[in-house]
Amino acid sequence: MNLLDLAPEQAAASLRSWLEARREPSYRIRQILPRLWNKPVRAWAEATDLPLTLRSELDATFPLPRLALDARQVSRDGTVKYLWRLEDGLAVESVLIPEGKRRTLCISSQVGCAFGCIFCATGTMGFQRNLACWEIACQVREVVLETGERPTNVVFMGMGEPLHNWEQVDRALTILNSPSGFGIGARHITVSTVGLLPGLSKLAARKEQFRLAISLHAATHQTRLALMPVERKYDLDRLMKALEVFERRVTFEYIVIRGRNDSPADAEALAALARPLKALVNLIPLHPGGAVPLPAAGAAEMAAFARRLRALGVSVSVRKSRGLDISAACGQLRVEVERARRVRTQEHGGVQQQLRVGLPE
Ligand code: SAH
Ligand code: SF4
Repeated sequence: MNLLDLAPEQAAASLRSWLEARREPSYRIRQILPRLWNKPVRAWAEATDLPLTLRSELDATFPLPRLALDARQVSRDGTVKYLWRLEDGLAVESVLIPEGKRRTLCISSQVGCAFGCIFCATGTMGFQRNLACWEIACQVREVVLETGERPTNVVFMGMGEPLHNWEQVDRALTILNSPSGFGIGARHITVSTVGLLPGLSKLAARKEQFRLAISLHAATHQTRLALMPVERKYDLDRLMKALEVFERRVTFEYIVIRGRNDSPADAEALAALARPLKALVNLIPLHPGGAVPLPAAGAAEMAAFARRLRALGVSVSVRKSRGLDISAACGQLRVEVERARRVRTQEHGGVQQQLRVGLPE
């Protein structure tokens, strides 16, 4: 049985009945349970506060699956990208972004993505499969094992659309938030979505105050349609109506693309959407790597667009072009690693090729 795929309460219940059947003292549960998430071990052999026989029995009954670290890139600003190889050979990314006291981990929810936004590297892969709950939660677990520290914040801004894999994301949210899981406060956990309405109502039905980021990227139907095929299914009108009843403050993610969504008229349309909801607009610099080459707005253009929005009464933050912008470009490491490997096998036989470390200028 895979305890890492269960909500902590269910895992505790399974462990308790297993321990009772073996006539183990009841305090064992307090030694074993934290080893799943709070103070994780790579394998039961590492839980040296337990008797050796119990460790090997745990290992036989409840083996702890791992994500294999396939590539790791460290940028000059301390941001770390991880590429995890899954049991079936597919791969997903996580990105750790230290910022002062904050350590934000950006995690993936699916392999590839079905929504094909034209600017997104993950979108070019198409949908491959859903991640299981444990594969989502273990991205955090592996980073804790590797760094010895728990992230302070987790964002679902890696590969995939979390609300398209709600059942597994739902349980992963419980593991992240529960005191017997990672114990990360709901306000420090952000679900990012293009706005799938059925998933939004399921997220809204949870009592915890998880944060919601909406990948808006356009403020009119026509502009959004040209960037994001999802607009055909769940259009802006319906999305805004759904957000009115959401009763939580949302963030609008908005990649600024020169000549596509950054005109004064775009700023006015965006302000008209953001103001009634008191939404925070997060302007994001465009990263290359999507299906269609698009012109990124420069820093000065981004600042001008931000000023215009502020003058219209909108709260705006501008994402730095280092740090968080890497998470925005989740999907790129996998594309890069796979391209490097193809080159290696085609041109260099088995020669080990060093991956480029650091961010593109
Ligand atoms: N599918 C969800 C979550 C993953 S994408 C969503 O779209 O919200 C996470 C963030 O990365 C989104 O805000 C997305 O729009 C952004 N992103 C994708 N491609 C990007 C690019 N080329 N440059 C900058 N941000 C990008
Ligand atoms: Fe999928 Fe999000 Fe990328 Fe769009 S931006 S293709 S929804 S991962």
